[in-house]
Amino acid sequence: MQQQISLRLLPSQAADTISVIEQIAASAAVPVSAVTGFYIHKQSIDARSKQAWVNLTVQAFINEPVQQREQIEFTFSNVNNASKRVIIVGAGPAGLFAALRLLELGIKPIVIERGKDVRARRRDLAALNKEGEVNPESNYCFGEGGAGTYSDGKLYTRSSKRGSIDRILQLFVRFGAEEKILYQSHPHIGTNKLPHIITAMREFIISSGGEIHFETKLTNFIVENNVLKAVEVNHQSTLHADAVILATGHSARDIFELLQQNNILIEAKPFALGVRAEHPQALIDSIQYRCAVRDEFLPPASYSLVEQVQGKGVFSFCMCPGGIIAPAATSPGELVVNGWSPSKRNNAFANSGMVVTIEVKDAVEYFKKQNPKTNSQISEDDPLLLMKFQQAIEQRAFAAGGGKFVAPAQRMVDMFDKKTSASLPECSYLPGISSTDLRTVLPGFVYDDLRLGFKAFGQKMRGYFTNEAVIVATESRTSSPVRIPRDQETLQHPQIKNLYPCGEGAGYAGGIVSAAMDGERIANIIGQLANHSSL
Ligand SMILES: Cc1cc2nc3c(=O)[nH]c(=O)nc-3n(C[C@H](O)[C@H](O)[C@H](O)COP(=O)(O)OP(=O)(O)OC[C@H]3O[C@@H](n4cnc5c(N)ncnc54)[C@H](O)[C@@H]3O)c2cc1C
Repeated sequence: MQQQISLRLLPSQAADTISVIEQIAASAAVPVSAVTGFYIHKQSIDARSKQAWVNLTVQAFINEPVQQREQIEFTFSNVNNASKRVIIVGAGPAGLFAALRLLELGIKPIVIERGKDVRARRRDLAALNKEGEVNPESNYCFGEGGAGTYSDGKLYTRSSKRGSIDRILQLFVRFGAEEKILYQSHPHIGTNKLPHIITAMREFIISSGGEIHFETKLTNFIVENNVLKAVEVNHQSTLHADAVILATGHSARDIFELLQQNNILIEAKPFALGVRAEHPQALIDSIQYRCAVRDEFLPPASYSLVEQVQGKGVFSFCMCPGGIIAPAATSPGELVVNGWSPSKRNNAFANSGMVVTIEVKDAVEYFKKQNPKTNSQISEDDPLLLMKFQQAIEQRAFAAGGGKFVAPAQRMVDMFDKKTSASLPECSYLPGISSTDLRTVLPGFVYDDLRLGFKAFGQKMRGYFTNEAVIVATESRTSSPVRIPRDQETLQHPQIKNLYPCGEGAGYAGGIVSAAMDGERIANIIGQLANHSSL
């Protein structure tokens, strides 16, 4: 007999297979010896009361052999001799999952990536963290695996309608992720494990007849009669293809500029901007688990906060328990922070983006205030206006930090009180932080909304609003400030045939899983065209 059983267990019980079997037996009213095994469908933590509980839904096997969890059958072809070739620009989650799906559909993916492979990329990250030098082609956003490689690797998304989350998670497991990501309510992989998984994907794509070319940057589009015929790479050679998937991420500003220069339609897209807040992890644990010290069987606690302040949403973004704040800039002279965590999330700090939504009117007002004389040059219709705003704030932050990616920072309560911090607490951000009145960095309304937001968050999470927390500027690459439009049905650019804008950079994803799903979605459309000989 098989039975799906829901259990509410103490964290120590949930971590112990024998205890789980005992609970299954009690719930099914059978002797323990009758339970032959189980697998987990769902696992979540309920920390609403003083005692935290682990909720498990299990598939239990009673007096019958244990079966494996249902798995999706992936049937990949060898595409060495495939007649159709698709160029994928960008080896982030959107590009890599598009490539894997094309292999299933018998189409040859040719991935071009401006950055380096994961191993070589690591050296550039070390130079950024230790020497304060950024390589514009190889950094936390550019390189194999895209922006997701050196991240926390959180794998949840709300955009379930756009594709199969299960397919994405199972593919991650196939290439080396732990099985628990299939059932945890908030799965994550961790920076130490992601590069191995990405490497395994690359090796598989190549062994199946696909191609991946590093340090190969798209430098122009070759369009004839509104049909994209080929792409120019590294200003040197030309690559022809039956279709081009443009999955270049939210930080490829040169791509947005290139599209505009080529009169290819793009649009400004609202995004969010703010700071990263860092607390001691032990403090977040004690607030969230209502305890002095976290139970060793509970994971480092996380939080998700949102508040309406003065008509604008202030919200937490990409929270990294046990994480590190990272310098995520892609060009010299611009300061951007983001966060990552190792798989165990065992660093001493908890960091999270704290951001405010930015719309075109906010950018117009900001530029007008900054320089009233340039009023006439600011156009609400400029599709790059929000990108320019994002860049302007990043440049102010860099200058305020004093160079070498030292980040301007302020204690949380000091920020609320509008006073420069006399000292700063220890912080995980490796290039270092420097005490700054963040009003000199952030637009006034962002500063104000954030400070009021922090106070309000302190009422939801008692202890959150504290001077033990440090606020580091700026969290500005939350999503793309530009949208590359596409036809809803064909998913091609409305003006340019064979051009498929894809993933976060095009404005159709906001994280690893949604970008991967978007990659699969585009590959599916291309597969349908190939089946009808229309590619
Ligand atoms: C530090 C950090 C932590 C993050 N943590 C998480 C997390 O925990 N969970 C989560 O869901 N999301 C996280 N994100 C966001 C996530 O990484 C992105 O949403 C996701 O990677 C977007 O996927 P993408 O494929 O659309 O674009 P990207 O991952 O940005 O990939 C685009 C790729 O295109 C390449 N490229 C750009 N221009 C060119 C060109 N001209 N020619 C060739 N190649 C080009 C880039 O080098 C890059 O590799 C994090 C991001 C960062 C930076």
